[in-house]
Amino acid sequence: MAGLYDVDRDALAALLEGEPAYRARQVWEGLYRRALLPDEMTDLPLTLRARLSGGLSPALDERRRRSADDGRTLKWLWRLPDGAEVETVLMRYDRRTTVCVSSQAGCAMRCGFCATGQGGFARHLTAGEILEQVLAAARAAAPERVTHVVFMGMGEPLANYAAVWAAVERLHDDVGISARRLTISTVGIVPGIDRLTAAALPVNLAVSLHAANDDLRNRLVPVNRRYPLGLLAEACTRYVRTTGRRLSFEWALIDGVNDRPTDAEELAAYVRPLRAHVNVIPLNPTPGFPARGTDAEGVARFATGLRRLGVNTTVRDTRGVEIDAACGQLAARPA
Ligand code: SAH
Repeated sequence: MAGLYDVDRDALAALLEGEPAYRARQVWEGLYRRALLPDEMTDLPLTLRARLSGGLSPALDERRRRSADDGRTLKWLWRLPDGAEVETVLMRYDRRTTVCVSSQAGCAMRCGFCATGQGGFARHLTAGEILEQVLAAARAAAPERVTHVVFMGMGEPLANYAAVWAAVERLHDDVGISARRLTISTVGIVPGIDRLTAAALPVNLAVSLHAANDDLRNRLVPVNRRYPLGLLAEACTRYVRTTGRRLSFEWALIDGVNDRPTDAEELAAYVRPLRAHVNVIPLNPTPGFPARGTDAEGVARFATGLRRLGVNTTVRDTRGVEIDAACGQLAARPA
């Protein structure tokens, strides 16, 4: 049986053989625009719904759902058909509804401060498994519509480029979310950034920097040994020059590690030529990393310092810390 969101239009048409041609369009719209499961498509005859349910099955099996912020933040733990597990987070704000999706089960990047990195890599997700996270969250958010999707869950999206990009295209073409409301976050995989530079849809790019000198970044973000800061800056420059889009950098503030005035100076010197935006995030606690996040006062001081150095800076409002749903806390361990 095929995964609900891994079939393409041709495979769907084959499944609907013998039916009038408009049925395939109707089902496709039901799946993507209306986020319906086949047996919820009440505008289809019962026999047809049964045939669809028999041929297409959801890939995500809900193992647990937790909520925080009065139900405005939801986190799911899903089990995939082969037993791999991933998490998805839905965040509802006054004027936006954001889904944070996983692109891999686990992650191979081994950033020590990130719970996903601490757990290691299981496998890539398929495009359909990524899409289904968005559509499942959309069902829970209804009648509010999902306005933004961020590839900031488990995994390194640019290490699973083909599936991530196929999901992006479908979110844009079929779900109807504008590319400007889709954000891919990366540890800094240079060839992946180059592919985004050449890609047709103007999605947002965020780079997880955390250190602006190679010594420290080698320790915090091990992939820096492969793509050091110099190469990363060159790829970012090509991206900004070619696309004309604004780039942003993420910086998780770790007490005494990367929150000193000298860190702000290095960061400012790195990002200013790129005219990039910086999003600082107080480090969230994870089981395998002893250092603490910078306290609120230190975060505010760091942000002010950066602004004084001419850097456009925002402090990320972290949601869902109490349910381990915040940045860097997704780990898919069923507790
Ligand atoms: N692998 C991609 C996508 C994950 S996005 C990437 O690293 O960009 C998750 C974001 O949360 C990244 O910016 C990551 O660096 C950050 N992060 C990881 N662990 C964190 C923690 N403990 N506290 C705050 N942010 C963290």
